[in-house]
Amino acid sequence: MITTKTSEEIEILKEGGHRHAFILGELAKKAAVGVSTQELEDLARELIKEGGGTPAFLNYTPRGAKRPYPAALNVSINDEIVHGIPNEDPKILQDGDVVSLDLGLVHQGMITDSAITVGVGDISEEDRKMILHCQEALSIGIKAARGGGKVGDISSAIEVFVRPLGYGIPDGLAGHGVGYKVHEEPFVPNEGAKGKGELLRPGMVLAIEPMITLGSSRIVLSGDGYTYKTADGSRAAHFEHTIVITDGEAIILTK
Ligand code: MG
Ligand code: MG
Repeated sequence: MITTKTSEEIEILKEGGHRHAFILGELAKKAAVGVSTQELEDLARELIKEGGGTPAFLNYTPRGAKRPYPAALNVSINDEIVHGIPNEDPKILQDGDVVSLDLGLVHQGMITDSAITVGVGDISEEDRKMILHCQEALSIGIKAARGGGKVGDISSAIEVFVRPLGYGIPDGLAGHGVGYKVHEEPFVPNEGAKGKGELLRPGMVLAIEPMITLGSSRIVLSGDGYTYKTADGSRAAHFEHTIVITDGEAIILTK
């Protein structure tokens, strides 16, 4: 079922989303050469607690997963696209790494979901461009999300921007409804046809999250049951905002 949120709930999401953006910003600043993924996880938990929230991903079991997710944060490095686990077998960030940080925050019972990708130290020009293009793909997807339109308008806008640049769009990974639960309907793919799919109605809260790769669109799931990597070992970027649909332009909640 696709839900719409009340204006009171949207106010809570705005407040939580604002805190969410602050936490991601602090994590981005912390992501430097020599820092471990465990340290990022620790900082995420500390900042979530400080703001009176709770981690939405910790102990959450997505459909199809065999065990609950063990961390508050997803840290996905280089060929890892999403859902990297920071506190099991922690890694030390290296010069030139591309690191995606994805966080879910519960604030007064309402959930926001947002992600950013950052470069560590000196990154290659190719990686730098990929990160910028992925961020731009998110903005373009958000601009296409308007009340009265369709989910496919978002998918198509992202795909039409990304494909000519030569990036891969990971198969099967997509955005989603959010707010009461981490994953709600509808599914919001990063490729598709304009004018197709579910109707976008004011009050719908969506996580829009383009992921792009420097190689193909094929993905593999790691042995930990969570981390999705590119099948060809190419690097990936990921940006995500939680937005609310209105009669006009969508409002970004996680800013
Ligand atoms: Mg996310
Ligand atoms: Mg998400």
